[in-house]
Amino acid sequence: MMIKVAVAGPRGRMGKEAVASILKHNDFELVSVLDHRKEEAFIENDIPVFTSLTELIYQTAPDVLVDLTVPAAVYEHAIIALDNGVRPVIGTTGFTDLQLEEMRKKVEEKKIGCIIAPNFSIGAVLMMKFSQMAAKYLPDVEIIEMHHDQKIDAPSGTAIKTAQLINEVRPPFEQGHEVEEEILAGARGANVSGMHIHSVRLPGLVAHQQVLLGGEGQLLTLRHDSFTRTSFMSGIVLSITEIMKQDTLIYGLEDIIL
Ligand code: NAP
Repeated sequence: MMIKVAVAGPRGRMGKEAVASILKHNDFELVSVLDHRKEEAFIENDIPVFTSLTELIYQTAPDVLVDLTVPAAVYEHAIIALDNGVRPVIGTTGFTDLQLEEMRKKVEEKKIGCIIAPNFSIGAVLMMKFSQMAAKYLPDVEIIEMHHDQKIDAPSGTAIKTAQLINEVRPPFEQGHEVEEEILAGARGANVSGMHIHSVRLPGLVAHQQVLLGGEGQLLTLRHDSFTRTSFMSGIVLSITEIMKQDTLIYGLEDIIL
């Protein structure tokens, strides 16, 4: 069966790659794109461009909406899609816990699948899962995520998801010295249940993460690097195919690949 796909954010760094991958795929038809600036519209292959998601859905009836936009827009897109029977595949990061909870309720009510993947790269998903395995035995963890300097949200969705996975196996406790003091605010990074996340933003980087797990006389370092955005595309393709078979909220690609 041909899957009809729409892409939100087609001019973006991720959106451009996703459009190219969808156009190449034999089982997908790119039916439309959502771009909030129509004057800079995407015109490749005469794909219709919409500024309103409701209008896009009404006129082109996609099965799946791939969202690669910005944290401020993605939640509304996802809710409109679900309300209209369109399955969201979401790569945009920056969801709050409350929004995730609301999404979970909406998916339950509508009984159609939705994937929110903080990282579509298979290698990164394995790095997160291996970190969770290791944290059971080495619970002192620091996460260092590194991204290009055009990224809006910090810490990255991948770092937050990694911390959440580790939290499932690590009892919360404050790491570092008990009277530790920050001489400069922010020096110890973000604190998630006593575990610390550090965000680096530099031109030249794409998406990189190191998880450091320290123990007596030892250090385990798990590292993943996305050097180009093509590293995310196999995960997007897999998610589009897989979401057609699902009727729940999937948060993280590990639920469909492991
Ligand atoms: P980007 O280059 O800034 O692209 C975002 C695009 O969305 C821009 O073209 C922007 O247009 C457009 N946009 C903004 N508001 C919109 C709206 N309301 N409706 C439709 N389009 C809108 O960012 P990116 O690097 O492609 O990243 C996009 C998102 O994916 C980010 O949240 C990023 O963190 C995430 N990401 C996820 C993964 C993953 O594996 N899950 C990997 C990399 C990145 P204007 O520029 O004209 O405003």
